[in-house]
Amino acid sequence: MDELETQLWLNRVEPYEGESISHFLGRFRRAKGNKFSAPSGLGKVAGLGAVLVRWEKFYFNPFPSRQELEALADVVMVDADRLAQMLQPKGVTMNPRPIKLCGACYGESPCHRIEWQFKDAYKCDRHQLRLLLKCTNCKRPFPIPALWVQGECPRCSLPFATMARRQQRVE
Ligand SMILES: [Zn+2]
Ligand SMILES: [Zn+2]
Repeated sequence: MDELETQLWLNRVEPYEGESISHFLGRFRRAKGNKFSAPSGLGKVAGLGAVLVRWEKFYFNPFPSRQELEALADVVMVDADRLAQMLQPKGVTMNPRPIKLCGACYGESPCHRIEWQFKDAYKCDRHQLRLLLKCTNCKRPFPIPALWVQGECPRCSLPFATMARRQQRVE
């Protein structure tokens, strides 16, 4: 798609440092003026079909190609290299479930960080806190980050940032 044409009717969304692609895509779709209710709609505009449905769930098999990232970059107006940083680095295995969270990080920067989903990640290196695997109040697993609209548990409404109080310290 012609870059200028895209920019006339889509609004750019600034990525957060460390933000995962699932969280970024959800924010982009819902941003004022964009209004893609589903990842398939955005995928269609980018010429990527249903692939974004899988990316929002952290299913990266087959791994996103350079060509796909460039097609997405044209539509979201974020550089393909920057989008690649929202995926796992080469040689790192990801676990798409459970979705993990550091509430203390979320309180400082309201996004899901891709590094939490690395297979071996169990603590936040910034805060030395064990990553949460479910809501500290109602014990419900976290939804995929693309669906984190309010930054709170969708069942009991406990804010993610508040959950930091219940995170165990690990040295
Ligand atoms: Zn943290
Ligand atoms: Zn809850």
